Amino acid sequence: MGVAQADIAILGGGLAGGLVALALSRLRPDLSLVLVERDHTLGGNHVWSFFASDLPQGGEALIAPLIDAAWPAYDVRFPGYRRTLETPYHATTSHRLDQALRLALPPAAIITGAEVATCTGTTATLTDGTQITAGAVIDARGVADFNSITGGWQKFVGQRLKLAAPHGLPRPTVMDATVAQHDGYRFVYCLPFARDEIFVEDTYYADGPDLDRDLLVQRIADYAKAQGWQVVGVLAEEQGVLPVVAGGDFTRLRSSVDGGAVLAGARAGLFHPLTSYSLPDALRFALALAAEPDLGAQSLAKFSEHYARTHWNNGWYYRKLTALLFAAAQPDQRYRVMQRFYSLNPRLIERFYAGQSTLIDRFRILAGIPPVPVSAALGVLTGLGARPKALGA
Ligand SMILES: Cc1cc2nc3c(=O)[nH]c(=O)nc-3n(C[C@H](O)[C@H](O)[C@H](O)COP(=O)(O)OP(=O)(O)OC[C@H]3O[C@@H](n4cnc5c(N)ncnc54)[C@H](O)[C@@H]3O)c2cc1C
Repeated sequence: MGVAQADIAILGGGLAGGLVALALSRLRPDLSLVLVERDHTLGGNHVWSFFASDLPQGGEALIAPLIDAAWPAYDVRFPGYRRTLETPYHATTSHRLDQALRLALPPAAIITGAEVATCTGTTATLTDGTQITAGAVIDARGVADFNSITGGWQKFVGQRLKLAAPHGLPRPTVMDATVAQHDGYRFVYCLPFARDEIFVEDTYYADGPDLDRDLLVQRIADYAKAQGWQVVGVLAEEQGVLPVVAGGDFTRLRSSVDGGAVLAGARAGLFHPLTSYSLPDALRFALALAAEPDLGAQSLAKFSEHYARTHWNNGWYYRKLTALLFAAAQPDQRYRVMQRFYSLNPRLIERFYAGQSTLIDRFRILAGIPPVPVSAALGVLTGLGARPKALGA
């Protein structure tokens, strides 16, 4: 039990909280910070990937120390074709985020192994009774409540495998959908970290959140065997069950977590509705926040509410696509939606992942004969047909 005081207190030392701390320490070095994390390390246990085209202006310098591997292009594989896209792809890791934060912040600014119990716009109380007061409190403790969201789930288990011999993959396979389809849209994702080291993730766009870790681990082993890779060790493992958003109520989403603090990251709804990826949004938000002239609690609360609302409003099109994927396509036919999408113009694909699709892109993605029944697609788009399920149900 103790007391701590800072200009800015950041609750949750994950991706968003970590990037806000890095942005503030770099761009506003005059400010004192305190970063509180429940675990003993910062960043959790993730590989966070992104396309170079996702990065906002000024984002490269901030993200550079976190990058563990970079490739100039990536592949996709579908039953109908294979394609190489010349968009650079990068992988960052939690371990590097932890290292970068410990280099950037003074040791006293990082409090790990500490659980936040409650917070307001200017205070936080930890479960051991420690009181933190700050000019502003930023709550970046991850997604807490899915009750106001409809859609589906992206769930996966990934393993970093050590192989007996080189795997032969020159670049990442971001989607290998030539695998047997189970539990919705299934694909395998491969990142070749070294010649004899590969990260293999078995991923599902599924209706339900249940994750059978052992089954997915077996499927990773089967996939490796089918590629002719002999696994000699598992270096790391991660898993995730992420919401894929087809609809919802922004005000309810926010009120379920709003204790008066500035919300950041997935907690603020700052992720791509269809991919659930949040790194580009977390980076954009961190840079925008650090550029705010007034970093007081009231002013930052207004800034973050407006930022998140704009993000939510701009996401309507991606939510409609999620609805199409989940409510209009039969689970074992969902891969066809992605197969068609990946046949489109590479720049359109880049803008899609960056959440910056133009009007023409939006039309192109939906134009032609969609690979889902036309009546089902119309029903979803008009809101008169099948509706996506509530995630909290
Ligand atoms: C395994 C995995 C892989 C992913 N891969 C990608 C990817 O490749 N690219 C991408 O863009 N997105 C990816 N995502 C999705 C998304 O970007 C991540 O979930 C991201 O970590 C969300 O960032 P965040 O900061 O909002 O939440 P988190 O990173 O989860 O951070 C929240 C932090 O708050 C801490 N916390 C929670 N409650 C408390 C409390 N009461 N007191 C103190 N601390 C608390 C948690 O321990 C955690 O460290 C992935 C997600 C997972 C789970």
